[in-house]
Amino acid sequence: MNVHDSEKVIGTLMAQGYSQVETPETAGLVLYNTCSIRDKAEQKVFSRLQNFKREAGKGKIFGVLGCVAQQEGEKIFDRAPHVSLVAGSASYTRLGEMLVQLESGNRRVTGLSLDTDETFDTPFTRRDNPHRAYITIIEGCDKSCAYCVVPFTRGPERSRTSESVMSEARRLAEQGFTEIQLLGQNVNSYRDPSPARWDFAMLLRRVADVPGIRRVRYTTSHPRDFVRAIVDAMDENEVLCDHVHLPVQSGSSKVLASMDRLYTRDEYMRRIEWIRNARRRYSITTDIIVGFPGETPEDFQATLDLLDEVQYDSLFSFKYSPRPNTAALAMGDKIAEEEKQQRLLILQEKQRAIQIRRNADLIGSVQEVLVEGRHQALGQWIGRTSSNRTLNFTHSETGGGALIGKYLPVRVTRSGPNSLVGESVTVV
Ligand code: SF4
Repeated sequence: MNVHDSEKVIGTLMAQGYSQVETPETAGLVLYNTCSIRDKAEQKVFSRLQNFKREAGKGKIFGVLGCVAQQEGEKIFDRAPHVSLVAGSASYTRLGEMLVQLESGNRRVTGLSLDTDETFDTPFTRRDNPHRAYITIIEGCDKSCAYCVVPFTRGPERSRTSESVMSEARRLAEQGFTEIQLLGQNVNSYRDPSPARWDFAMLLRRVADVPGIRRVRYTTSHPRDFVRAIVDAMDENEVLCDHVHLPVQSGSSKVLASMDRLYTRDEYMRRIEWIRNARRRYSITTDIIVGFPGETPEDFQATLDLLDEVQYDSLFSFKYSPRPNTAALAMGDKIAEEEKQQRLLILQEKQRAIQIRRNADLIGSVQEVLVEGRHQALGQWIGRTSSNRTLNFTHSETGGGALIGKYLPVRVTRSGPNSLVGESVTVV
């Protein structure tokens, strides 16, 4: 979402007459977009800002955007006095106005209010990828997972109207984009605020029907709001990619309760059964945190058992680390770093073995890929399957970017834990 926020900020500023340059050195205005999902984000931001300090005397304007801006607020001015603008994502609709204030001589401007029902809904977005486009459909979060800073940094949940999402999807298709990725912190909590009252499953169906769109993905889903109608919609339309990312965080219902995740392991597994029993075959991926305060060896074992049960196609795993402005901060950071590291390694090793098996199952199958690039040294094209796997392949066309953006059938000939290798085939 941060990447896409940057695209929207750039597009909005370009529509106001700014132009983008290649490096901070050549810019008159430097906006530094930040994310605080990882540990020590603030330190990294301040050390990066320090690097910009030398440039500050040359009449440049510096601004900090994103989660660290929201989290640190005006303290940023104290630690990095050359910064003139600090704004969280809930204030991006006011960005143009804030820049006018700076250019008319104001020394410091902030946009830190979370009290908004607006989304950063702009027709001006400078998209980096010519084939895949992101559309934010819902911003913020009304949940309160104990470890997560997002409700504090991105404000309350706000959905865009279905009409505004649909017109953006149609415009993107007309511009030649073929893959759309719907974004939201809890994308499946989407509730159309207009009288049409579409839910997420309806929105998926309608976006998939836009002429010219070949693939639709979405991220990230919250298990509690993952209803059966979503699987039904996916089963009915193959434009909806055969991949579900469903973050579980822990396999222990006790840990899930202390994380305030709003579902039990059994409730989560019911969703997995819907997906596994569906008509199409879906790839399922997840996020897991190890070492949450109070996670016993038995709780951790429950997470390992969950991996055996679900057989994820891939997962993102993290060691718990405390974040400012979160409920878990009061629980302390009880599990020793070495123990967390050990659990992370055990988890990753187990998942690696699962991925090796699951990817090997695909050898001999023909997968449609969207060609994303060329690996000249390996003599391979880089493709992505609907299930979100990287499938590198050979093709008689070997030069330039001739195949990039095309959809091609590829037979899988080899597999590894993280990707597949294959050869282009002609399907008759
Ligand atoms: S659902 Fe939980 S983890 Fe996801 S953004 Fe909201 S608070 Fe954070």
